[in-house]
Amino acid sequence: MVNVFVPETLEEALRIRGQHETLVINGGTDVMVKYRRWNGMPPDFPLDVLHIGNIAELKRIEIAEGKLIIGAAVTLSELMEHSWVPDYITLPIREMASPSIRNMGTLAGNLCNASASGDSLPMLYALDAEVTLASMHGTRKLPVAQFITFAKQTLLQPDELVTEIMIPVSEFPIVYYRKIGGRKVNAISKASFYAVAIKKDGIIEDVRIAFGSVAPTAVRDRACEEILIGTAETELDSKIESLRTRYGELLAPLDDIRSTADYRRHVSLQLLEDFIGKGLAK
Ligand SMILES: Cc1cc2nc3c(=O)[nH]c(=O)nc-3n(C[C@H](O)[C@H](O)[C@H](O)COP(=O)(O)OP(=O)(O)OC[C@H]3O[C@@H](n4cnc5c(N)ncnc54)[C@H](O)[C@@H]3O)c2cc1C
Repeated sequence: MVNVFVPETLEEALRIRGQHETLVINGGTDVMVKYRRWNGMPPDFPLDVLHIGNIAELKRIEIAEGKLIIGAAVTLSELMEHSWVPDYITLPIREMASPSIRNMGTLAGNLCNASASGDSLPMLYALDAEVTLASMHGTRKLPVAQFITFAKQTLLQPDELVTEIMIPVSEFPIVYYRKIGGRKVNAISKASFYAVAIKKDGIIEDVRIAFGSVAPTAVRDRACEEILIGTAETELDSKIESLRTRYGELLAPLDDIRSTADYRRHVSLQLLEDFIGKGLAK
């Protein structure tokens, strides 16, 4: 038998986290699947459980210092429906799971789970998102791209909680997202591609590109983005081949039950080409 803690405040949650070895449950949509048992028995949790999904302080969405601040217990549905959250953030969220899972699951849960196929991760990498980690001893902030160290691995310490995710707010007139899955809903990505850009007078001023499900973590490469920045929309075609080659070297997809490495690489580079040829050039 394990203990289940259901604190009402962040302070209480951090105290429990500091005093007990706990498994954090937020929306539970990853955790409940991971520890399920097939014979109708309760889940087989390896540790005491700390449920944080109802803590009011973690339910806030705010804008401060040019950043959208998303509390760790904000559900994916709440995020999608909030009027302050721009489309370039909600776009990949809308294609995650299904309405019932989005009503429970959170962005923080997707981040902490750190799956190679976590659908919010390319967006968080591309937008330079940061994460706030809190313990009884204080808080620290890390770029999401540093927080995740490998598939399913993060820098989260046993006494810490993720309390918020911060995304710098900007205007991105060009937004491109494609998720390749086996079906329309509840599909784990075979590959995904997220990009945003700003173009002024036909010149690419800013572009961010990230690939999902084709390496242990999302793949973003600023050197490749620099190749596109400053390019006229009429010259973009001349960059495609070198970018395909360069990204091709960075992607490290795997064969698994959902797809093959070859297919993942092929479709990802096709999406890159489609984005440059149609998304950026139009
Ligand atoms: C049917 C189904 C379909 C799905 N479809 C998709 C999909 O299309 N795309 C996709 O990316 N995912 C999908 N998922 C996975 C899951 O729904 C998402 O990853 C979701 O965002 C997880 O959020 P959660 O709050 O439920 O996480 P939880 O299950 O509560 O937690 C996930 C992990 O993060 C840790 N954690 C959570 N919050 C914190 C915190 N604040 N501080 C520290 N640690 C924390 C937990 O300990 C756990 O290790 C699907 C799941 C199911 C069951």
